[in-house]
Amino acid sequence: MQKNTELMQLQTSVIRQINLAEEQKRRYWSLKQGYIGESEVAQWLEKYADDSWHVLSDYWFNYKSTMQADFLLIKENHWLVIEVKNFDGTFEYRNHECYINAHLMENNFMNAMATKVRRLTRIANEVSENIKVTGAMIFINEHCQVKLDYEFDYEIIQRNQFRNFLKKQTEFLAQPLLPAYLNRIQKVLNRYSIENPFQPTGLPIEDFATIHKGVTCPACHRFDVEITLRKVTCRHCHFKEAKSETILRSARQLRYLFFDNSEIVTTENVYQFMGASAASRSLIRDILGKNFKKVGKTNKTYYEIEI
Ligand SMILES: [Zn+2]
Repeated sequence: MQKNTELMQLQTSVIRQINLAEEQKRRYWSLKQGYIGESEVAQWLEKYADDSWHVLSDYWFNYKSTMQADFLLIKENHWLVIEVKNFDGTFEYRNHECYINAHLMENNFMNAMATKVRRLTRIANEVSENIKVTGAMIFINEHCQVKLDYEFDYEIIQRNQFRNFLKKQTEFLAQPLLPAYLNRIQKVLNRYSIENPFQPTGLPIEDFATIHKGVTCPACHRFDVEITLRKVTCRHCHFKEAKSETILRSARQLRYLFFDNSEIVTTENVYQFMGASAASRSLIRDILGKNFKKVGKTNKTYYEIEI
């Protein structure tokens, strides 16, 4: 599972000890929980879903309105839409409202799921009228209880039921999709596909002067590292990293932090960001040049990092 850019930006801010507003902290927590849940579901799919499913993840689309499917599993005549919730506590659906631990939730995602399945059915029917689209809402957290006073026309699956649910979908001798057919499906999906509309806001460029400079450990994220000619070793967890990797990682951190400023990754900025003594300017220039596209000339040169 690839982390989305907003989560990466918030996570980088936390690692680099940048103060987040309360709302950003909540957003980070919720994106992180979502990511953990989806990663877990991805692993289970890998393990228990039969090989004939073609699995897409994080499909953003616009069909009358903007929607996203955590997973879309595709077989010849069946599409399965999977939505993952990683809630810790009691989730209740009553009187057409969602509650988590007795607090009313803003987003009625249970209702939205029904709409999502209907709209994906319309999309699937552009490929073939014979495709059936079903949905499954997975409550993946082991500490989640689910109480519903309404019956939805998609499945509600709790963690201990998920493996059996996947096994039930297994078809004897099912074949993977033929490439030409898959191509046809992909074309239809692309027609409605959109970029994730939640893009992060970067730090203002003035903040570069005051942010914490130095190198973080890739494992425990502490700034307490020992730097030698070719290696960076964490004094706390003893994780070792090649210095070239540290340079690339620091450059990516810089890019995420100043998300709105695509020209932020210059040799000088990475040099300062890493604490001005972690690596020489010439080594940084060399490593960035080998890994990223160089844009501009002389003192305006920056490196393009696609994220
Ligand atoms: Zn460490």
